[in-house]
Amino acid sequence: MNIDKSISAFKEAKQVIAGGVDSPVRSFSSVGGIPRFITRGDGAYIEDVDGNKYIDFVQSWGPLIFGQNDKIIHDAVIKSVNHGLSFGAPTQSETLLAKEILKHYTPIDKLRFVSSGTEAVMSAIRLARGYTRRDNIVKFIGCYHGHSDSLLVEAGSGAVTFGTPSSPGVPKDLIKHTLLAKYNDIKSVEKCFKDTANIAAVIIEPIAGNMGFVPADKKFLQALRTLCNKHNTLLIFDEVMSGFRAYSDGAHTLYGVNPDIITLGKVIGGGMPVGAFGATAKIMNELSPDGPIYQAGTLSGNPVAMAAGLASINRVDQNLINALHVKALKLIKGMKEMASKHNIDITVNSVGSMFGFFFCKNEIKNFDGALKSDLQIFAKFHSNMLEEGYYFACSQFETGFISTAITNEMISDTIKAIDRVFGKIK
Ligand SMILES: *Cc1c(COP(=O)(O)O)cnc(C)c1O
Repeated sequence: MNIDKSISAFKEAKQVIAGGVDSPVRSFSSVGGIPRFITRGDGAYIEDVDGNKYIDFVQSWGPLIFGQNDKIIHDAVIKSVNHGLSFGAPTQSETLLAKEILKHYTPIDKLRFVSSGTEAVMSAIRLARGYTRRDNIVKFIGCYHGHSDSLLVEAGSGAVTFGTPSSPGVPKDLIKHTLLAKYNDIKSVEKCFKDTANIAAVIIEPIAGNMGFVPADKKFLQALRTLCNKHNTLLIFDEVMSGFRAYSDGAHTLYGVNPDIITLGKVIGGGMPVGAFGATAKIMNELSPDGPIYQAGTLSGNPVAMAAGLASINRVDQNLINALHVKALKLIKGMKEMASKHNIDITVNSVGSMFGFFFCKNEIKNFDGALKSDLQIFAKFHSNMLEEGYYFACSQFETGFISTAITNEMISDTIKAIDRVFGKIK
C-alpha cells in the first residue's frame, strides 16, 4: 500500500499543528504508524490522499451511525446552509432536536446544546456542583469525559494511550475535588463516600467506550443509584459515545437505572460539532438565565449542526440498533473463531452498534483488566488490517462501531482479512 502522500502531509502538518493532529489519538503514535490523511468518505468507506480505500469502523469516533456522507444528513445540511450559517439567536431547529432526544431520554425534561462532548460534560459538572452547592465529584478510572480540568484524571482513551494519567496544567487544588473509583466495583465507590463528604455527583460512562469497550454490570449501576440517593448525590450518565449507539432509549432503559443528569454528543450531531446536557426541570431551571449557574456558547445550537443531528437521530430506533448489533455480533464471533484458530487470546464484547476486543483471555470488567491486553499484538493487528483496507481505531483503549452502510458481505470479508492477519502476526 502506497502512503507517500500521507507521509508528506503528516510531515507538513507537524510544522504548523501541534503533533500534526488536532486530537492526540489521531496521530497513530501508540500503534507506531503514519496517520492516513483522509480526503473523502462515502458509505462504509473512507479514502486517503494516496487514493487508498478503507472500510471504516471508526466513523469519526462514533458520530456517523449512518456511515460516511449519508445522503439524508448531507441534504439536510445543504438545505440549512442555504439559509445562513449562524445567527446567535434561537432557532426552531434547537427545539425540534431537543424534543426528538427527550422522546428517548425520558428521565430528563430539558436540555441545553453545546458544541462538543467535553463542553457538555464540563457544563453538567458545573450544574451538579451549583445545584448541590458541593464541590467534590467521583469519576471512574478509565472513563473519559472530555478534556476539561476536573475530569482529566485517569481518563482512559487518548490520556491512557499516551501514558499521562492526568495532565500537566491541571491544578492539584482542582484535582483534589475529583475522587477516583473502580469501574464495576461498588465497594470502591462506597469508600469514596466514606472518606469524603459533600460529593456533588458521581459521573460514569454506563457503557464505557474509552478504556476499550467495557459495559457496566446492571447490579453495579443499580447499587450506584442507591448509594447516590442515600447521600443526596447526583448521578450523571455520560452517554456522549453510547447515546443512540448502544440502545435507542438510552442506558437508563437498558439498565433500568435513571440518572439525574445525562450528557450526549457524537451521534446527536450527525457528524457536526454538537453536545448536549440535560436533567429534570428542577435542576435545569438553576441554569442561567432562569437560575444563577452560568453556562453559554456563541455557536451553541448552531442551526446547521442541529439540522445534521435531527436528520441523524430521527431515524434511530431500536430496530435499527438491533440490526447493527446482529452485524457487530457476527464480526466479533468471527474474530473470536479466527483467534482460536491461530492460538491468539482474545475477549470480545458488543452492545448495540458498539463492539470491542482485547488481546487477553478473561472478560474485562474495569481498567485494570483492560491494561492486561497485549498491546504489541494490538499494534500489529491494527497496521496489518490497515494494509488490508480496514480502518480500526488506532488504540486498544477505544471502541469499534458498525454503521448502517456496513453490509454483511463486508463483515464476512473483514473476518477473512482478520484470518490472514492473525495468521501473520501470532
Ligand atoms: C467523546 C467523549 C467525550 C468528549 O466529547 P468531545 O466531543 O470529544 O469533546 C466525553 N465523554 C465521552 C463518554 C466520550 O466518548
